[in-house]
Amino acid sequence: TKVQIGNHTVGGEQFSVMAGPCAVESYQQLAETAAAVKQSGAHILRGGIFKPRTSPYSFQGSGVEGLEIMQAVSAEFDLPCITEVMDTDDIEAVLDGVDAIQVGARNMQNFRLLRAVGESGKPVLLKRGIAAKVDELLLAAEYILDAGNPNVILCERGIRTYETATRNTLDLNAVAYLKQRSHLPVIVDPSHGTGVREFVAPLARAAAAVGADGIMVEVHHNPEKALSDGHQSLYPKQFTELMQQVTAIAEIMGRTI
Ligand code: PEP
Ligand code: MN
Repeated sequence: TKVQIGNHTVGGEQFSVMAGPCAVESYQQLAETAAAVKQSGAHILRGGIFKPRTSPYSFQGSGVEGLEIMQAVSAEFDLPCITEVMDTDDIEAVLDGVDAIQVGARNMQNFRLLRAVGESGKPVLLKRGIAAKVDELLLAAEYILDAGNPNVILCERGIRTYETATRNTLDLNAVAYLKQRSHLPVIVDPSHGTGVREFVAPLARAAAAVGADGIMVEVHHNPEKALSDGHQSLYPKQFTELMQQVTAIAEIMGRTI
């Protein structure tokens, strides 16, 4: 299955790169970051406006105001965009403003939300839950397909294991398994998968080598000032280097970027 997000096709010959900040914070922040990732060759702009945060006292996202920023920056830099919905009510709010919808790890088994994004017809990036088995991810995807939406992309973003050295354990077995068991495109998120800036590039390279259809990476023009996930966000310069490395590996795997 190939999934069209704006002018970009996920799951085809091209290795897809989705990049941008964890959260949309301001026009200046998103525009500076978008300019940098576009310059380095990213295909899709990511950025959360509704943020599922572990603590209710953490930044919760900029909501509808952030959506307007996302739309403006997406148009300005000719980058299709993706943002997360946390609730069925959020879908209508973002429907006309974004090119794809993300269902986050915490909502992988929110079955009403899955059916609703299915009914929306928008391309959906479905992230694996932190304690979900791959077969449960596939059945969650089935809810979206069954609601009449064939445009589903699976995303491995790390799971919780006994290992605490990194935020999560990126399960690349799952990528190999999903590529064999499913026709849906598979994307790897090494940012949440490791939670450590220095490990994002190595695992992005591994994702290209294991046969993923693309990556989703957090990049911030000024990570020290980020309102969420700054510790795992790449500096634009690091992202440029990552793109060069991933391009070389993708080529070995028979893909363009
Ligand atoms: C995100 O992509 O910003 C995010 C919250 O990811 P996850 O659902 O994988 O934690
Ligand atoms: Mn994040």
